[in-house]
Amino acid sequence: MSKLIFFDINGTIIERDSRTDLPYFDAANELLYVDNAMKNINNAARSDMDVFREILLNHNIEYNKALWNEFLTIYEKKLKEYSKTDIWRPNKNIISFLNKLEKTDHKLALITGELKIGSKYKLEKIDVWKHFETGGFGEDNISRYGIAEVALKKATSLYGNSFDEIYVIGDTILDITTARHINAKIISITTGANTKKELEKYNPDMIINNFNKIKRLFLKN
Ligand SMILES: [Mg+2]
Repeated sequence: MSKLIFFDINGTIIERDSRTDLPYFDAANELLYVDNAMKNINNAARSDMDVFREILLNHNIEYNKALWNEFLTIYEKKLKEYSKTDIWRPNKNIISFLNKLEKTDHKLALITGELKIGSKYKLEKIDVWKHFETGGFGEDNISRYGIAEVALKKATSLYGNSFDEIYVIGDTILDITTARHINAKIISITTGANTKKELEKYNPDMIINNFNKIKRLFLKN
């Protein structure tokens, strides 16, 4: 049976640490001529646009499209610079897991708060962008639920009804509630922003600490 599997990026495909989002932080600082635009802001599992609006709010600046476009230009420049460093590394076993999934009938897609451009740079760096033909990204909606709805719509129009189950794999509580929002099963991974204890409270369908734990579920044939 073929399944549609949505992957989160940060903390799930990419090993998350304090440097993961440096290009975004640097771009915000450069745009606003400040040193710490991200002060007091938690960006985990949120859309890049949502975070951008909070940054502006904290600096008493009104949002406008020109400012956003200026940010995007700086952001891509930073992504390019940082792609030469080691700030993006694959989470444990994810590369071999994706390579094996590629050989099955399962359909892969992304649900992320990241803009498509950031997703592309991060995942190209670890050579897994090629596995994802579609997904919901930070520009698709301001909320995670909205992004997931768009992701499901795109995946359905690309893959038709060739899957009979939908899964989300993610590291946060928001990934759990998002999966339920689109009637998907949720596999929580304990390599990201929320602890195992925090995740357990929301009763995900499975909790794993690395991708080898779900090999049998998806790769048995
Ligand atoms: Mg995440």
